[in-house]
Amino acid sequence: DLYGDERRNSFSPNIEIDSQWAPFKQAVDGFMQQQWNGGPIIGGSQRKTEQVHPVLAPQNHNIRVGEMHWASAQDVSEALDLLSDGFVSWNATSVNTRAACLERLADLLEDNLAELVALCHLEAGKTIQDSIDEVREAVDFCRYYAVQARRGLGQPLLGTAFTGKDRQYRLDGRGVFVCISPWNFPLAIFLGQVSAALVAGNSVIAKPAEQTSLIACRTVELALQAGIPANAIALLPGDGASVGAPLTRDPRIAGVAFTGSTETAQLINRSLAQRDAEIVPLIAETGGQNAMIIDSTSLPEQVVRDVVHSAFASAGQRCSALRVLYVQEDVADRIIEMLRGAMSQQVVGDPSLHSTDIGPVIDLKAQQGLLAHIEKLKASAQLIGQTPLPQSASQGTFVAPTAFLISDIAVLEREQFGPILHVVRYKASELDKVIDAINATGYGLTLGVHSRNEETTRHIARRTRVGNIYINRDQIGAVVGVQPFGGQGLSGTGPKAGGPRYLPRFTREIAL
Ligand code: GLU
Repeated sequence: DLYGDERRNSFSPNIEIDSQWAPFKQAVDGFMQQQWNGGPIIGGSQRKTEQVHPVLAPQNHNIRVGEMHWASAQDVSEALDLLSDGFVSWNATSVNTRAACLERLADLLEDNLAELVALCHLEAGKTIQDSIDEVREAVDFCRYYAVQARRGLGQPLLGTAFTGKDRQYRLDGRGVFVCISPWNFPLAIFLGQVSAALVAGNSVIAKPAEQTSLIACRTVELALQAGIPANAIALLPGDGASVGAPLTRDPRIAGVAFTGSTETAQLINRSLAQRDAEIVPLIAETGGQNAMIIDSTSLPEQVVRDVVHSAFASAGQRCSALRVLYVQEDVADRIIEMLRGAMSQQVVGDPSLHSTDIGPVIDLKAQQGLLAHIEKLKASAQLIGQTPLPQSASQGTFVAPTAFLISDIAVLEREQFGPILHVVRYKASELDKVIDAINATGYGLTLGVHSRNEETTRHIARRTRVGNIYINRDQIGAVVGVQPFGGQGLSGTGPKAGGPRYLPRFTREIAL
């Protein structure tokens, strides 16, 4: 896919709050005082368990958001039994009924916008604007997959065999689908997976990231309210070892959708392969080592705006985010100088303030890993710039946005999932070497290109192996149905989320 500079589009026209910012923010602030409690949801009701975890806001650990009860081994097993039964009747309901549930859920998300924004902001540390965008994307997924289901799954495909006999090819749900989602889009990716699996006729066990289970819990409550049967959806909060691993080992499951690290996807793949049971699909969307290539024909102001946004927005915690910027030598000094200036203007801090550009990273472990990388590069590479942190940063887990000059993408051992940008200077004659180096990482998620030379953009787009290519714009924030999103190689199995071929991967085909 070649994504140019399309205008933003969305299926959630009701979320247009720019003109009503003050009353909306007041409603969000009202929810900020609330405490949320969550736990496993099995058979339509929420459970309390022995394993209770406090949830603290990443931006300020003095803010207690609520507490989460993690699922026990018994909960995992009960959910599998219940959902195996539930699958049969849910799969037998019409696609229209299932799609209508998704549309009701989208309406409920919009009705509860202020609460979901507050929760997303407090639990994941997102800025208010990022939290609004997150709800909008979740709404988009529900409405888009409802439309796609009616269009693609509702009617069987009709065919005629060479004997003249009529045939029907129908797409059914597969069974119990396990959806394992990340903390960086705790509502949008969580619900993107769940809504696709459900509308395709599967019953769904959702295992949200342990850092952001409260919002997942609230969303499942809304899904039940929207009419998803209590035996078609279950939520099992907990960590990978106690919930994820037993689920992916279990013979009762019929598929796994996973978004997260490449290493965890490989672990799940091995776990599925070792079962002496049905061979089931793994739909994985994983990490990246995303690059942007800019040449001397690009527009410097536009480049710097898009680089800063792609690398540092959402504190760099998007799998689409820019990690390695290749700048052509002829314009490198100028671009680097402008980048340093732009970085110094970014505001890091309290994500509840309209003036804040960049909030915290998710937790202490993430912060320590990113700080260790920064320390290592300070000793071995040239520092380009670092956005200062406010004093209040010590109350939460913040990392100062930082840019380094490095020699090549190959020196980076792994993806750094945070606000760290690496810049490489290249000569025009080395463009193919740059492309080879990017391909050689094995990842293939997003790529940015800034050039006014169409032959250059075509050449780069033809030779790089990535899922999403963005030309002369930023490379994050894929819009459902407009920029279907997903990578290849170490970055994932496809199909693209928010794209027209996503749903069939959650089905099995039956010929009659
Ligand atoms: N779809 C998101 C974007 O384009 C990224 C998804 C992710 O981080 O997993 O920004």
